[in-house]
Amino acid sequence: MADHYEVLGVSKDASQDEIKKAYRKLARQLHPDVNPGEDAAERFKLVTHAYDVLSDEDSRRRYDMGGDQNGGFGGGFGGFGDIFETFFGAAGGARSARPRSRRERGQDALVRIDLELGDVVFGVHRDIEVDTAVLCETCQGSCCQPGTSPVTCDVCGGSGHVQRQVRSLLGNVVTTQPCGSCEGYGTVIPNPCGSCAGQGRVRSRRTVALDIPAGVETGLRLQLPGSGEVGRAGGPHGDLYVEVAVAPHPVFSRDGDDLLATLEVSMTDAILGTTTTIEGLDGSVDLELRSGVQSGDVLTIGGRGITPLRGSQRGDLRVGVQVITPTKLDGAQRKLIEDFAKKAKAPAPRLAQFQQGLFSKLRDRFRSH
Ligand SMILES: [Zn+2]
Ligand SMILES: [Zn+2]
Repeated sequence: MADHYEVLGVSKDASQDEIKKAYRKLARQLHPDVNPGEDAAERFKLVTHAYDVLSDEDSRRRYDMGGDQNGGFGGGFGGFGDIFETFFGAAGGARSARPRSRRERGQDALVRIDLELGDVVFGVHRDIEVDTAVLCETCQGSCCQPGTSPVTCDVCGGSGHVQRQVRSLLGNVVTTQPCGSCEGYGTVIPNPCGSCAGQGRVRSRRTVALDIPAGVETGLRLQLPGSGEVGRAGGPHGDLYVEVAVAPHPVFSRDGDDLLATLEVSMTDAILGTTTTIEGLDGSVDLELRSGVQSGDVLTIGGRGITPLRGSQRGDLRVGVQVITPTKLDGAQRKLIEDFAKKAKAPAPRLAQFQQGLFSKLRDRFRSH
């Protein structure tokens, strides 16, 4: 590790004033505010660390004598300790005696996937691309250049905290603060890993095989524990959340685990009855329309709906009948219908209770059973 005097560019017998001036000059050059590079940030840390050691007479003496690692008072932060905290984050847990860990739990990640309604009937397998932080192969999360390791911080002696005397109305008060030199870790990394810039993790795109269960709906989030971002310094993974969006289907809609559709039936088929085959989301279904079927009648095909998210009993396919009245009749056809009307003695229009739209009628009928 570089000599603290060299880092600041001062001689071994420099006065406190000279040390302070040298530090202020370098801090202005390297400050993350004016110099946002990774290298400058690293040098700023080194410079600040050197200043922390040398600006306090006690720790400077220990350093000169060969670096007693068990320093007590860091002291001498001046106004710079605050700046340091602003840019590198104040270390948490100032009250606890232990240094904080570099290892942090990774963040949760969220991806969205688009599904068709057909995917929801039985569930579907998807390979999804996820862009997250993964463990750095080079350092395996140690943050250090291979072959090197963190060294005990000689400002705080490895505790991650420094004590500082503050003059107050009540006299001198000793407060404990996170060590600004090691950011409270108790160690510093003299040779950060080049592949991950000392973070222990890198961003990478990977493929996650996903079995989406049947019965999911738009907005539902599937949780994959431990599949999110790897933490800093090889910390545990966060979780991966997959949010589902189900595209509307041109024919089928969903009511709970049931599928709904409308079957348009000609007036003559409705009168005479017929058989027909409809295409469901999972193959064809034979339907028998009784003679005299009415608009609004519902044909229920059991077990051809959606497999529920919890459970295995599929919902039903419910088909609402809508009889289509012919609109274009030629002369002969009209004559036939008029003859039919005379013979059938069709009743005159009659006032009855208001009928809601077909779909709400479908639902009402279903719920009343
Ligand atoms: Zn690395
Ligand atoms: Zn420290």
